[in-house]
Amino acid sequence: MTIQNFINGEYINPVDNNWIDNYCPANGEVYGKIPDSSSKDIETAVDAAEKAFKQWSNTNIDERSAILLKIADRIESQIDLLAKAESKDNGKPVNLAKSVDIPRAASNFRFFGHAITQFASESHESIGQNAINYTLRQPLGVVGCISPWNLPLYLFTWKIAPAIATGNCVIAKPSEVTPMTAYLLGEICNKAGLPKGVLNIVHGKGSSTGQAIIEHSQIKAISFTGGTKTGAHIASVAAPKFKKLSLELGGKNPNIIFADCDYDEMLSTTVRSSFSNQGQICLCGSRIFIEERIYEKFKADFIQKVSQLKVGDPADSNSDLGALVSKEHLDKVITYIASADKEGGSILYGGEKITVSGLEDGYYLNPTIIEVESNSCKLNQEEIFGPVVTIMPFKNEDEVLKMANDTIYGLSTTLWTNDLKRTMRMTKALQSGIVWVNTWMMRDLRTPFGGVKNSGVGREGGFEALRFFTETKNVCIKY
Ligand code: NAD
Repeated sequence: MTIQNFINGEYINPVDNNWIDNYCPANGEVYGKIPDSSSKDIETAVDAAEKAFKQWSNTNIDERSAILLKIADRIESQIDLLAKAESKDNGKPVNLAKSVDIPRAASNFRFFGHAITQFASESHESIGQNAINYTLRQPLGVVGCISPWNLPLYLFTWKIAPAIATGNCVIAKPSEVTPMTAYLLGEICNKAGLPKGVLNIVHGKGSSTGQAIIEHSQIKAISFTGGTKTGAHIASVAAPKFKKLSLELGGKNPNIIFADCDYDEMLSTTVRSSFSNQGQICLCGSRIFIEERIYEKFKADFIQKVSQLKVGDPADSNSDLGALVSKEHLDKVITYIASADKEGGSILYGGEKITVSGLEDGYYLNPTIIEVESNSCKLNQEEIFGPVVTIMPFKNEDEVLKMANDTIYGLSTTLWTNDLKRTMRMTKALQSGIVWVNTWMMRDLRTPFGGVKNSGVGREGGFEALRFFTETKNVCIKY
């Protein structure tokens, strides 16, 4: 299967004819190739986007909205095909792709298709000065959207939908590790009537294709989701060029469990928040802190529940966990697990690679629970981004708050308690862009999404995203 770039509404090969192998994580086999695009391909894409911008930025809101809604419908009508493609490319269970990734990609277009009809600019009457100010919110022009491999179509469309809704034209690059559903999106957009050049999808490595996007002087903004180190590099290149930047980066999210919580609900949600998508969701709670007096009970119940999870062929609808995304990532996660002893941790469950019959070369790993003694160990400080969680007890609110905040990251926190006053105190004090209380990953697309500290800069979601993809211009008229 050869994946091509989607530029100016057409599928084309990369100019230099350089290609990268595309692997299937379920069996470790190469099942296709994708372009490793160069700055020449980015140049062609930017030209197409520049040409489309004049018309698209002047297309009326109803028309833009209708096209976004049609894209959403088309994604939904192809849910089986897209879910299978996502599962094959990423290793995630097909059930997860069908229930989360693909429906959410459709929701992204539908949500921003509606949101744009409600987006307004402000006006200010300067009373006593006979003047009125009105603020235009204009699209930026050509913008860059760069996304990671963990939720491929979901995060790709989370950026593209608000960018095109606001009248921008886009150069988008999916992760080179999971290019397939981004490839399929081009055709969907054509069929939905998106004018050519509004969305250009260019494939390739971060260091070549991605680098050419962030360096390009005509690209006015970069919306990036990925690792913190990459985010820092992108900022160092894009900031001196005064590009607008939205950076959604890594995390090391605490999951804080008090004894007064609704125990059964907490337990089943904690299994999900630990191991969904093989633990490869930026919002997964990887540091679990449990109030001392229920620690032993939690430990036994958690191990028992996790031991029931089935790791297997992502295409099998009985699999709870599929394969990790790549051999490199599997090796990285295993290296962390191997460091447990040195870091003062004991492996309570899992920790080893799994061989799935008929798929012997796939990247399977048992869900892993490690008991740690201190929050300062590497396992609690560095992002592992796999099916690995640590657990440790805490004595009181002050102690757990200190540990929760003692990290360079600040993306999300999950708090389990029924004490209202404690909830109010803690949600205010937690250094985190998102706090869930008695739930996890419940999303309302109107809410601001993003992290603090090394988890990023800026917010996505709702009007925040529409503001990011527009520039304000104030006009002052004296009468
Ligand atoms: P990554 O940073 O390696 O890559 C992300 C994207 O950036 C890819 O498309 C890659 O090709 C591109 N890239 C790499 N180098 C680049 C460069 N020099 N210039 C431009 N683009 C470049 O991240 P990943 O391994 O794909 O994803 C995992 C990371 O993403 C984890 O750290 C995870 O926490 C994070 N993540 C964050 C969120 C969030 O919302 N905060 C969501 C999902 C994933």
